Amino acid sequence: MLNNLSAQIQDLNYIWHPCTQHKDHEQLPPIPIASGKGVYLYDFNQKAYIDCISSWWVNLFGHSHPYINAKLAEQAQELEHTLLAGFSHKGIISYSKRLIELLGQGFDKCFYADNGSSAVEVALKMSFHRHQILNNQRPIFLTLENSYHGETIGALSLSNIPLYQQIYKPLLLQSLNTPIPSQMTSTQEALEKLENILKEKGHQICAFILEPLIQCAGGMHFYPKEYLQQACKLCKQYGIDIIFDEIAVGFGRTGTMFAFEQCNITPDFLCLSKGITAGYLPLSVVVTNNEVFQNFYAPYEEYKAFLHSHSYTGNALAIACANATLDIFESEQILQNNAKKHLFITELFGQLQCFACVSNFRSLGMVFAFELDLDIPRAGFVFYSLALQHGLILRPLGNTIYFMPPYIITQEEIIQVYEGICSVLSILENKQKGYI
Ligand SMILES: *Cc1c(COP(=O)(O)O)cnc(C)c1O
Repeated sequence: MLNNLSAQIQDLNYIWHPCTQHKDHEQLPPIPIASGKGVYLYDFNQKAYIDCISSWWVNLFGHSHPYINAKLAEQAQELEHTLLAGFSHKGIISYSKRLIELLGQGFDKCFYADNGSSAVEVALKMSFHRHQILNNQRPIFLTLENSYHGETIGALSLSNIPLYQQIYKPLLLQSLNTPIPSQMTSTQEALEKLENILKEKGHQICAFILEPLIQCAGGMHFYPKEYLQQACKLCKQYGIDIIFDEIAVGFGRTGTMFAFEQCNITPDFLCLSKGITAGYLPLSVVVTNNEVFQNFYAPYEEYKAFLHSHSYTGNALAIACANATLDIFESEQILQNNAKKHLFITELFGQLQCFACVSNFRSLGMVFAFELDLDIPRAGFVFYSLALQHGLILRPLGNTIYFMPPYIITQEEIIQVYEGICSVLSILENKQKGYI
């Protein structure tokens, strides 16, 4: 049997971890997880951690969920995978119909991929390709400042966070950034800037990609739906496609099943991933409309087909989990229960503002965040390390601390998280005062 220490040594021998400066592991080695149940993850020494960030925003109903486990096992007995080019399977037919019906008018066709970044690539290529078919030369993509759309080269081109993007700039696609409403920029100013960009370059822009309501990786930045509505309307006047990247906010995170529902906008392309399998298996989908689909529909010799593919496109096991996820949404009134949890957590966590180092507490749906203002180098990282000692997984974004739990979290568990955060903040404030 491995214990934590031997697992850590072997891990560090062989594994290069994502989004990690490995030197940090000298201080804080990776935590080997032996098992999970509900909101808890357990390490090899049986220490329990509450997964306060849903394992990077993917886990909706807790770890090792009995119903999803059963559906996954059932599917494995029947069919594990088949190619999707020229073939189909039972699960994916039923899932696609369910998803289209759930999304409502303006969504007609599902194109599958196997992770969020790939879904963004699909949407970018489809939009570019369809403009080519329509004889429109539109080589530029438009994105919001502070946006995040993934790590592959196309998606990274539209991710406006210097930490991830800067070094790769020479490799990236042509893109333009437009300001996001924030404390510095009003919605009106942001719209004026956008209008200026459109006046100058509108007819060269292929698509505008946005994360509706919350820029998650960009520090859980909330922005008003009025901006989204006006911005999308302006773009439409120039024949620019709208891509909504709901990879992080889809599947109930903002309080409605999808964020676009709160904005009354039907995008041309909707990208979904993360919560789609409730954290079980990689899967993503781009949903678009029949008009786009028809642009590509022609005799083979006209070479209009969208020839994009991934080996694991529409994997049957992943789809079984996606179907199980929708089953749970339907049978357990998840959104209604989340609305109650939202109120409870907002009220409780709002009290964190009593700490001098906590500012800008905000919440929407099942996303809760605040800024940590401390004169300690890498305060977010120090917070993270201390939270782990308290049995809480709260990996921050810089100095933005956020709570994005699985939807099945109970009131007792919420209180436990709150008390843990209070202890960590007290330690940090004392540290700053030089007491520790
Ligand atoms: C996570 C994320 C992506 C990328 O998805 P991956 O599965 O990590 O490639 C894209 N857009 C948004 C908004 C995300 O949060």
